[in-house]
Amino acid sequence: MLIRENISLLPFNTFRMDVKAKIFAEYSSVEELRALLEQYKGEPLLHIGAGSNLLFTKDFDGVVLHSAMRRARCVSEDADYVWIEAENGLVLDELIAQLCDMGISGLENLSYIPGEVGASAVQNVGAYGVEAKDVIESVRAVSIADGAERIFSNAECQYGYRDSIFKNSLRGKYIITHVVYRLNKHFEPKLNYGNLSSEVGFNPTPMSVREAVIRIRQQKLPEVSELGSAGSFFKNPVVPKEKADELLKLYPDMPHYNAPSLEGREGVGLCKIPAAWLIEQCGWKGKMMGGAQCYEKQPLVLVNRNNATPEDIVNLAAAICKDVKEKFGIAISPEVNYI
Ligand SMILES: Cc1cc2nc3c(=O)[nH]c(=O)nc-3n(C[C@H](O)[C@H](O)[C@H](O)COP(=O)(O)OP(=O)(O)OC[C@H]3O[C@@H](n4cnc5c(N)ncnc54)[C@H](O)[C@@H]3O)c2cc1C
Repeated sequence: MLIRENISLLPFNTFRMDVKAKIFAEYSSVEELRALLEQYKGEPLLHIGAGSNLLFTKDFDGVVLHSAMRRARCVSEDADYVWIEAENGLVLDELIAQLCDMGISGLENLSYIPGEVGASAVQNVGAYGVEAKDVIESVRAVSIADGAERIFSNAECQYGYRDSIFKNSLRGKYIITHVVYRLNKHFEPKLNYGNLSSEVGFNPTPMSVREAVIRIRQQKLPEVSELGSAGSFFKNPVVPKEKADELLKLYPDMPHYNAPSLEGREGVGLCKIPAAWLIEQCGWKGKMMGGAQCYEKQPLVLVNRNNATPEDIVNLAAAICKDVKEKFGIAISPEVNYI
């Protein structure tokens, strides 16, 4: 167990915000996690992974927890599937690289998303037509209140678009410690999204899909080691179909997709509109406010271009939301967690 006081969180968030935490504690087992929860009962707690979906807006006057549990193991298999249990602190992309190496498929489209296994199951990360929920069998978590362990089935996680029960009714109540994935022994490539199919070419393998995804991502998204960001800053808004039809009369080229309805059925009255398009139409692509910039290659991403402060990012995000609301009458909201 590692405990440090009054430390800078700069190395622990990909936006590179130089804020401080009163306490930073890292555990190497579930028993150590329980001991920390007991020791710091009553203090404000924040569990982080790689800090790639966070915006620290100020110093954190409490305990920041991080996992150093980084193993993965096969817990079961049959003729078609293999069940892999991964610990929360394992870097998701390292797990995916290992699985692709072994020819095990299901997660390859999520290659190169920064972050750790635990948070990916909170956020239901998604990319190139696949979401974590498609392969998550169950999630093991520890209650912050009393340290009790609970296993959540996929259905109990209440997954939605970048959403889960851990972001809603159970927000701040559980720490995910393990995720069990059900993965394929027989490869069924999912290549329908964008230009993935042409980038992959003939005879795809899990590894060739992974490599293609990485090539595409490297062209469009900032490298976290070079430019601070938290990936897509905003969620793509979902609007009633009538609203989309109204906008299509004014903007016939507006991209739009049928979205799952509240009942989970396709095409019954809801439309998803890419937030990147809305933001670009408002003229924000490439623009700066203070040290923060709307990324010139992908306007959905806000970047720390020049020593941005938390206020710079917050102000830029607010200005973008305001303009999109005024021009299109659509409220866009951050995907990133403000802390
Ligand atoms: C360049 C870039 C590209 C990205 N591309 C994508 C993409 O394609 N698709 C996508 O979905 N996301 C993308 N993201 C966003 C981000 O990588 C994911 O949301 C990722 O899952 C966050 O993981 P993390 O470990 O960094 O979580 P953190 O940012 O550390 O935490 C995120 C949230 O989860 C909570 N949390 C963390 N660990 C746990 C735990 N064990 N138990 C309970 N709660 C926990 C935190 O308190 C916080 O609220 C991108 C980010 C960047 C910087």
